[in-house]
Amino acid sequence: MNKGNIGVTSDNIFPVIKKFLYSDHEIFLRELISNAVDATQKLKVISRQADAANIPMDDLRVRVSIDKAKKTLTVSDHGIGMTAEEVDRYINQIAFSGAEEFVNKYKDKTEAIIGHFGLGFYSAFMVSKKVEIFSLSYQEDAKAVHWSCEGDPEYTMEDTIKAERGTDVVLHIDDEFSQYLEDATVEGLLRKYCKFLPVEIAFGKKKEWKDGKQVELDEENIINDINPAWTRKPSELTDEDYDKFYHELYPDQMEEPLFHIHLNVDYPFNLTGILYFPKIKSNLDVHRNKIQLYCNQVYVTDEVTNIVPEYLTLLHGVIDSPDIPLNVSRSYLQSDNNVKKISGYITKKVADKLAELYKADKDAFAKKWDDIKLFIQFGMLTDEKFYEKAVTFALLKNLNGEYFTLDEYKQKVKETQTDKDGNLVLLYTNDPEAHYTYIDRAKAKGYDVLLMDGELDVHAMSQAEQKAGDDGKLRFVRVDSDTVENLIRKEDTAADTLSDEQKEGLRKAFEALIPKAEKLNYYVSCEPAAADALPVFLTQNEFMRRMKEMSAHQQGMSFYGQMPDSYNLVLNTSHPLIQELIAKMTSEQVEENPSDTSDKSDVSDSSDTSASSDTKKEPVIKTVYTLSGEDERLKQLIDIALLASGKLKGEALAKFVNRSVELL
Ligand code: ADP
Repeated sequence: MNKGNIGVTSDNIFPVIKKFLYSDHEIFLRELISNAVDATQKLKVISRQADAANIPMDDLRVRVSIDKAKKTLTVSDHGIGMTAEEVDRYINQIAFSGAEEFVNKYKDKTEAIIGHFGLGFYSAFMVSKKVEIFSLSYQEDAKAVHWSCEGDPEYTMEDTIKAERGTDVVLHIDDEFSQYLEDATVEGLLRKYCKFLPVEIAFGKKKEWKDGKQVELDEENIINDINPAWTRKPSELTDEDYDKFYHELYPDQMEEPLFHIHLNVDYPFNLTGILYFPKIKSNLDVHRNKIQLYCNQVYVTDEVTNIVPEYLTLLHGVIDSPDIPLNVSRSYLQSDNNVKKISGYITKKVADKLAELYKADKDAFAKKWDDIKLFIQFGMLTDEKFYEKAVTFALLKNLNGEYFTLDEYKQKVKETQTDKDGNLVLLYTNDPEAHYTYIDRAKAKGYDVLLMDGELDVHAMSQAEQKAGDDGKLRFVRVDSDTVENLIRKEDTAADTLSDEQKEGLRKAFEALIPKAEKLNYYVSCEPAAADALPVFLTQNEFMRRMKEMSAHQQGMSFYGQMPDSYNLVLNTSHPLIQELIAKMTSEQVEENPSDTSDKSDVSDSSDTSASSDTKKEPVIKTVYTLSGEDERLKQLIDIALLASGKLKGEALAKFVNRSVELL
């Protein structure tokens, strides 16, 4: 027997392994199986060499087994095995990476070698009080070796008898990790990490339900699909194959994906994968199934933030790349050049695929638009490069259910919806039911109205306006934000026949009767709108409303979010009813003294009162208009305006109904 100390620089690395190195203890299984798969792949490479033609290659399965009585978990392979000297070199000198040496030796001939996970074999000590290796090298006349270590720097090594080529790694599981002796736990881990490994992994026998009982079959229970779709050529795969693979990835997902993108690069980095655009039914679904990251078919994680641009983390699928550094911190990942390139490549591929789908069949693309809109707008808002491509296929939908790119739509409405200052005004609604009267009036004018009810539409509109710049002069305006005449001003407004004093009187009369509500302000204004428009109606300023909406999504804009909602109550001075009220107003001459009107701010220094009274201004004679005896009618008019905008509720609505009955 041979005794020695494991060659690490630090005195005792095991406590470190146990406590700090891996927060996920379960990955020990992935590490050991990766080693077993590597050893098998290496043997395949060697067997293809001319001087090694007689290596038996019949059974290459990796087997995982549990012995509950002995409290062991064993990973066995029929790979290249290790001689005593190799165990010494690869296991005892842990700083040495055997995989690296192997790759150097066989350079271009290697099949994918998994060796990217750092400490690898030693992660077994996270869950074991003792680890043994039994190994027989493929080399002629090799002697089998038995290595054993109890989680301290001391190990033993001796010759042993082993019939079959390959390596058995036996873990004596710590009592506190007894879950790794449960079939269900281990099978679950194998399905998580090994589902697509390139060498078959067997765990026990297949089971079947027979007469209400589970019975074991002779056949081994194979965990993995060794040729997953992403490793195959796109030309070999049908749409059905892609859909089938989607369900293999997400067994709980019932919906079919909308479409897929097959990724395949080998320069300047290696990356393969398939991304799917899922059909998202609700917000809850969004992060249930995530993109899975693999390294040479070994599952690594489904936390792909930083590798995939944020807006694409909403997609489903797999990415497999040996070029993504896996054992580094997230902040490092962000600045890694390969990762940046990968992220850029994925953006380009996704954009190109979407452009291709759009070109190939515009109608089919439009049908999918509502489902993919969120991804695309998110991408356009957060990624300049994506924006540049996406602007050619991002669509707008009008109330007739027709779809247009922004350019197509601008052409469509250019004639009718350009205002006197050359602004192209695009009208929209986010709620066709609530805006029914406004939409009706806009349509009567020959205008088209867009449906903008998506979560990111407000931001998308602001972006489009900004991108158009001052030369493009593009404005999105919601149909209820002004009178239809003012939405798109065609010529300077007709001169008003009312005097400022008359308007003031009218405004005050209405203002006094508007129901008070918290966080809701109404401003009354007089506008000569069309005679067939409502006598009184509500509008809401586009800019303020949009700022409030955007603040709901963005930090640092809460100032707008806290502002009360404000509406304009427009008195249509062209309407006969309002004209009648104007005719009923009475006027009187009032003497107004500028220095003692209380609403003028009295900010002058109080010690200076004598001076201010000395410079008293001449009193002004003003005409003041009042309207009396018409309160019921005014209330009715206000309520009609509120009702038409869906703002009349509760007690106010009940009062309106009663008043209406009385009037009849
Ligand atoms: P890595 O796999 O990253 O090199 P490990 O600590 O997991 O690091 O393994 C060290 C070396 O031990 C491997 O590179 C390999 O040469 C050897 N080794 C580990 N497990 C096996 C195995 N099952 N069969 C053959 N060689 C193995």
